[in-house]
Amino acid sequence: MLQPGLMMDRPLMISGILEHSAAQFGDVEIVSRETHGPLFRYTYADCAGRARQLANALAALGLKQGSAVGSIAWNNHRHLEAYYAVSGSGMVMHTCNPRLHPQQLIYIINHAADEVMLFDSTFAPLIKGIAAHCPQVKHWLCLSDAVNLPAIDGVKTIAYEDLIAPHSSQFEWPEFDERTGAALCYTSGTTGNPKGALYSHRAIVLNALTGCLPGVLDISPQQTILPVVPMFHINAWCIPYAAPIGGAKLVLPGPRLDGASLYELIEAEKVTLSAGVPTIWQALMGHIEQNGLKFSTMKYTAVGGSAMPAALIAKFSDVYGVQVRHGWGMTETTAVATMTSMTSAELALPAADQHALVAKQGKTVFGIQIKVVDEHGQTLPRDGTSQGELMVRGQWIIQSYFKGEKSPLIDGWFPTGDIATIDAKGLMQIRDRTKDVIKTGGEWISSIDLENAAVGHPSVAMAAVIGIKHPKWDERPLLFIVRKPGQALEKEEILTFLATRVAKWWVPDDVVFLESLPVGGTGKVQKNDLRKDYGGVFS
Ligand code: ADP
Repeated sequence: MLQPGLMMDRPLMISGILEHSAAQFGDVEIVSRETHGPLFRYTYADCAGRARQLANALAALGLKQGSAVGSIAWNNHRHLEAYYAVSGSGMVMHTCNPRLHPQQLIYIINHAADEVMLFDSTFAPLIKGIAAHCPQVKHWLCLSDAVNLPAIDGVKTIAYEDLIAPHSSQFEWPEFDERTGAALCYTSGTTGNPKGALYSHRAIVLNALTGCLPGVLDISPQQTILPVVPMFHINAWCIPYAAPIGGAKLVLPGPRLDGASLYELIEAEKVTLSAGVPTIWQALMGHIEQNGLKFSTMKYTAVGGSAMPAALIAKFSDVYGVQVRHGWGMTETTAVATMTSMTSAELALPAADQHALVAKQGKTVFGIQIKVVDEHGQTLPRDGTSQGELMVRGQWIIQSYFKGEKSPLIDGWFPTGDIATIDAKGLMQIRDRTKDVIKTGGEWISSIDLENAAVGHPSVAMAAVIGIKHPKWDERPLLFIVRKPGQALEKEEILTFLATRVAKWWVPDDVVFLESLPVGGTGKVQKNDLRKDYGGVFS
């Protein structure tokens, strides 16, 4: 018979994270770029006090455990306080992606039954358009002081500072089952309505703890971390939880995410570690190259959300001394599920070989398991070449969608919709998304591999590939290129370049040069928009 362990059964609580940091790292700084005014600067102890004030204020508004509080907001200190006050009170923090179509925003706010909406003044026009359609929202709280409170026609707004000011900074955080829902995030809903992933306290705390590991994000009191990845999507990869666990200084970039603003913040605050999607790093690199700048403190950058081209990895590392950590995750996986993890032997390899390893999506972090399966659900070998749908399971992987009728799981595994390979050492590589892969003459072309090869050309700033219907081959690749400023790259040159790097039958049938690519709210290229505008038939 199994012998029960005799350890205390203390629940993993999000409130416990903030109280831990307030007690151990009370004087460690949080720096926040605000929508209005100069940089705001305070400490974990201050943050905890104000989160408790907000918890008291939410209770005074009549909210109860289980109530949902929405946010449409940038990464800033008030949003951070809400993360803790809401979940810590046993309520659900529903972060909304402001870049969703307004109809989808209305849908998710109503579906989540948000009773309060926290918003940044930037989004006042958006609130004006949706408020009348969200009857369950009783209070519209602007994350500002009274001076910067926008007047919105037909909406009674309250300034966050006015709301919390009368309340005590003492609050007894309730303890409850760690499996309770803490935060809610909806998928982007590229097909059908967005679906909600409801993260538990347990899932978030376990993921954040893993994020602190040296081989993952390496979060410690010696680090200063800047999450560029938005708090409105997938909990900013749980960095707002991991930073206070590890005691790292936290720098929040607010609304200014362009290369120049990020560079200025990184240098001014001596940031050592950052995290974001590749398009953000492409813009930052563009700014640095054009202005002949360098980094003085940055050691690592964590990247994910879409594939990071090897050429960019090489530039960060070889030219600017910043190590890239490439990870994979999705709304349904709370945050990071796989991450680059180099052994000492791999770190001794020539630079180009190291970059090729980092360009893959990494190995599972502890707590996560993955496999790839064929169309019949049979597990494929871990040989680095057999590709199939990536399946994932673990302590912070979705079991069912919020108010969803049927669990998406297959035999206890979540089907990701990504096509991947896994090699004998466990290194996973995303080859494509099932909806983006180009099926040509019975074979598959990876749009990601083609894009990465194209970005390797020195005149290319960004590249995207979609499949276009073809009468003979089913689909053929069409390449979109954004040239670097002042470069005169033409179709023949890029196709000749690609022909030396990919199989002949992979070379795109045509090239379209654009000023920019359509990029969505989470910094990913919107291939659906490209398909809508260019998705005819090749003859
Ligand atoms: P959406 O992109 O639909 O908004 P998510 O934000 O949840 O959904 O993104 C998850 C998807 O992003 C994954 O299923 C995968 O296709 C893609 N992705 C995430 N990280 C990477 C990566 N490092 N390389 C390639 N694709 C990635």
